[in-house]
Amino acid sequence: MTNADILIHNGTILTMGSQNKIISEGMLAISGNTICYIGKNEKGSIRAKRELDAQGGLILPGLINGHTHAAMSLFRGLADDLPLMEWLNNYIFPVEGKMDADFVRIGTLLACAEMILSGTTTFCDMYLFEEEVARAAKEAGMRSVVGEVIYDFPSPNYGILEEGFIYTEGLIERWKKDPLVNIAVEPHALFTCGEELLIRANDLALKKGVPLIIHVSETKEEVKQIKEKFGKRPVQHLKDLGLLGSHLILDHCVHINKSEMELLAESNVCVVHNPESNMKLAAGIAPVPEMIAKGITVGLGTDGCASNNNLDLFGEMGMAAKLHKVNKLDPTVMNAQTLMKMATIDGAKVLGLEKITGSLEVGKRADLIVVDTNQPHLVPMYNPYSHLVYAASGHDVKHSIIDGTIVMEDRELLTLDVEDIIERSKEKSKKVKEWVIMGRG
Ligand SMILES: [Zn+2]
Repeated sequence: MTNADILIHNGTILTMGSQNKIISEGMLAISGNTICYIGKNEKGSIRAKRELDAQGGLILPGLINGHTHAAMSLFRGLADDLPLMEWLNNYIFPVEGKMDADFVRIGTLLACAEMILSGTTTFCDMYLFEEEVARAAKEAGMRSVVGEVIYDFPSPNYGILEEGFIYTEGLIERWKKDPLVNIAVEPHALFTCGEELLIRANDLALKKGVPLIIHVSETKEEVKQIKEKFGKRPVQHLKDLGLLGSHLILDHCVHINKSEMELLAESNVCVVHNPESNMKLAAGIAPVPEMIAKGITVGLGTDGCASNNNLDLFGEMGMAAKLHKVNKLDPTVMNAQTLMKMATIDGAKVLGLEKITGSLEVGKRADLIVVDTNQPHLVPMYNPYSHLVYAASGHDVKHSIIDGTIVMEDRELLTLDVEDIIERSKEKSKKVKEWVIMGRG
């Protein structure tokens, strides 16, 4: 008899590991923050302090949101159906200019509640006041990669650019030993960051051994701007500045061509695909099947709530699959299993966390969710990947464990006071309304 801290039994386990094993009538045991057993149900063989009955449901790795701006949850539905520049200039930038640390803290807690409730266990954030994001994520018990957005103009958080680098170095130092929080260097985009900033950000990321994350080629207009300014396409610009490498993560890559894909593939640069945001802002359709075929690792993200408008990765998976099918008029171009990989193990590879999360394997950290399949819309079940991508939603996630801690049990959040967060979020929305009116003069 072996001892463990938590035992989850009576479920079908989707490991998402290299062999993609599916174990029916399986059980999984956790010791501390680590998975110590995965196999067939033999309940008598392991004694655990806590037991969770999966009730015939699915046990799978927690989902990984590869790109978001968590605190933008407070801007959900503030302004929709507008041209990108009008949306940014008249709504998003004016309100972002007014916000403070507490605003970002409440918005991030709200986002963490939504993410845990919809099966996400790791997220990668880019925003302002990221110290608050790191703290909120830690309080929620979520695994995170966070980085302060830096650009050439002054920030409402740190002020002038020089301070942005000092702030980022401070984040790296303060959180370097944390088991859940990881820091990245995050210049905003090629049209907001000059060459000097980009080279310096890259040097810092390489020196500290952390990822470098940037929005690239989200819109046609952006590619046009870069070509006009530098006489080359965005990925070539990154290459000439010496930024391409396995530490680099590109968000979006909607408008990239074949030779750019080849450059990314040969330099092991990873990409995060954000289909719903790209659709809602009418940015375009990223060539994801082509990128995957070239050997680029592609993860999945929701982007911020203001351009999505939710953080549910189940919806994102289904939408991504259907978007690429209809784009190519070919239903075989992306399948459910590929989407599941993007939202789990490939998402972990993108963030450089594949040794600790993204699949269920003995020795890895216990980041996992249990999906309740005993519901009319999930019965019968011939193929679990199909249900997760095409039929399930975040509401079907019953339990969630992150780093060996139960953060949600029977849909009740154990780390966060949801009622309090909802109340505070409503308070913040009153401020947002005032800021929008002020911004219009
Ligand atoms: Zn973004």
